[in-house]
Amino acid sequence: MTWKILITSVSFLNAGEQPLRMLQEGGCNLIWNPWGRSLRAEELKALIVDVDGVIAGLDEYNAEVLSTAKRLKVISRYGVGLDKVDLETAKRLGIRVTNTPEENIQAVADLTFGLILATSRKIPQSHQSTREGKWDRLIGHGVYGKTLGIIGLGRIGKAVAKRGKGFDMEILAYDVYKDEPFAAAHGIPFLSLDELLRRADFVTLHCDLNAQTKGMIGLKELKMMKETAYLINTARGGIIDEEALYQALQEGRIAGCGLDVYTNEPPTGSPLLSLENIVTTGHIGAYTDEAIKEMALTSVKNLLSGLEASHSDKQ
Ligand code: NAD
Repeated sequence: MTWKILITSVSFLNAGEQPLRMLQEGGCNLIWNPWGRSLRAEELKALIVDVDGVIAGLDEYNAEVLSTAKRLKVISRYGVGLDKVDLETAKRLGIRVTNTPEENIQAVADLTFGLILATSRKIPQSHQSTREGKWDRLIGHGVYGKTLGIIGLGRIGKAVAKRGKGFDMEILAYDVYKDEPFAAAHGIPFLSLDELLRRADFVTLHCDLNAQTKGMIGLKELKMMKETAYLINTARGGIIDEEALYQALQEGRIAGCGLDVYTNEPPTGSPLLSLENIVTTGHIGAYTDEAIKEMALTSVKNLLSGLEASHSDKQ
């Protein structure tokens, strides 16, 4: 069998030879994303019409795009979030959707801790000022022994909790699904969202973006946080109301914020970028050499087994 495969994930190209060899051996002819970024629905529609499978980045797989794809059998997400895929329509059209949930856990947890340290110790601000020949002795807040509030104690949330333990932090959690054995083993109480927001020195978001979490952190929630607290988001931009966050940061209602993700990416023109009390990265949570290679291999395996399964279904 030969398959026509679209690869939209940009960093897939940095994953080395092995995944490409596997695709070749699996009979795949490849089409590459010509834009070098996540594709918008209109761009995707033009490329997806006659492909059998996609190794997908964070493109817009809405109902219209999926209906355009006449031969599509598998969307293999290179990454974990499925919030850009209309899962109901995919199911109705018989399109298999897979992801790589295990491969980037440690990378995202590392970056989360990096943002915790960078925001509270003002590392980027001091870096910038020192390079400019100044000698500003910036005063931040300590991390060791503080209280870390984790919203979404799933795979990444748990990895962040373990790092927090290494800093002797008190860990609090809020989740709609409670993994009681993990929480008990690590001495983590589940609290209401409000109580977590009131008590934490660092609030970090690790829930997926869904109908309940969209806009979950608005002005009301930000006002509950301590004035000395920091908010970290390496999950999805849409979980925070960005206008409310701008207001809270500008008014000093919270001490600062570390953001890897935005509602619109890249966040061109976002007023958040003009604030002093934010540290930001460009959705690089999963971007380590190790995670990229693992995600590429698993996304190829998922794609090939999905294609094989769809072929067997037809026989
Ligand atoms: P996961 O599914 O293991 O964990 C998500 C947790 O959120 C679950 O425990 C779930 O019960 C909880 N949750 C869902 N709805 C909730 C709600 N309404 N309130 C509170 N908790 C809720 O997922 P994961 O692998 O830990 O990844 C978490 C998210 O991180 C992903 O969905 C993705 O959006 C994001 N992510 C970002 C990057 C990046 O590059 N920055 C990389 C990977 C993942």
